[in-house]
Amino acid sequence: MAVFETEALILRSYNLAEADKIVVCLSRSAGLIRGVAKGCRKLKNRFGAGLEPFTIVNLTYYEKENRELVSFRQVEILKSRFNLSSNASILTGFAYMGDLLVDFSPPHQANDNLFRMALACFEAASETPDDLEAVLRYFEVWLLKLEGFLPDLRSCANCQNVFSGDEAIYLGGDLSLRCSQCSNGRGDAVSRKLQSHLRTTEKLSPAKFAEGARDVPKDTKREMAELTFQIIGRVLERMPRARPAS
Ligand SMILES: [Zn+2]
Repeated sequence: MAVFETEALILRSYNLAEADKIVVCLSRSAGLIRGVAKGCRKLKNRFGAGLEPFTIVNLTYYEKENRELVSFRQVEILKSRFNLSSNASILTGFAYMGDLLVDFSPPHQANDNLFRMALACFEAASETPDDLEAVLRYFEVWLLKLEGFLPDLRSCANCQNVFSGDEAIYLGGDLSLRCSQCSNGRGDAVSRKLQSHLRTTEKLSPAKFAEGARDVPKDTKREMAELTFQIIGRVLERMPRARPAS
């Protein structure tokens, strides 16, 4: 039985037997892991508040060979979110990001970029709750990108010509973007404004992106929300759960 230690973001938990829970978290060094926290529902237990959703912890766990569920041994809180526990919209937003992480992250596959991106998004939304919506869009774009589902935003998937920037481009059913000529106007149009708004996600932190998004027209934001929703829905082959209204 091997013992591991990693930084982790607690995502959700389920009750198990009388006093235990199954806890799902995104860890830095092992990706998505599911583990049993024995005795954590007893009044006095060694986990304390460390298993509350969206807490960042230093997690120690055992792993048995050929078992998908690990055993949590200890958690040490690095950052808690108690201050936000009464903010319903933030909690809905966090739950939405948590759901997508569970849906998109293959178990036991470390992805440092994804871990850092997720932490930065939770942090940005905590710091500036009014920017939640923009942070969620940033999170969706980067999640799709890091998991390999975001279409190339710069050039046509068919003729490889770089998008000129003054014409609409089109998202096809295969989730690729084509110039207006190649697409023949079929698919969902992606406006010029949205193209440039999408590209700003590449250069900025979630906090900076959200700050800039305050000056972006409502129509463009709505278009972005529809586009990411479409892509996520097609990848998952169902609509994402509990997406906060935009
Ligand atoms: Zn083309």
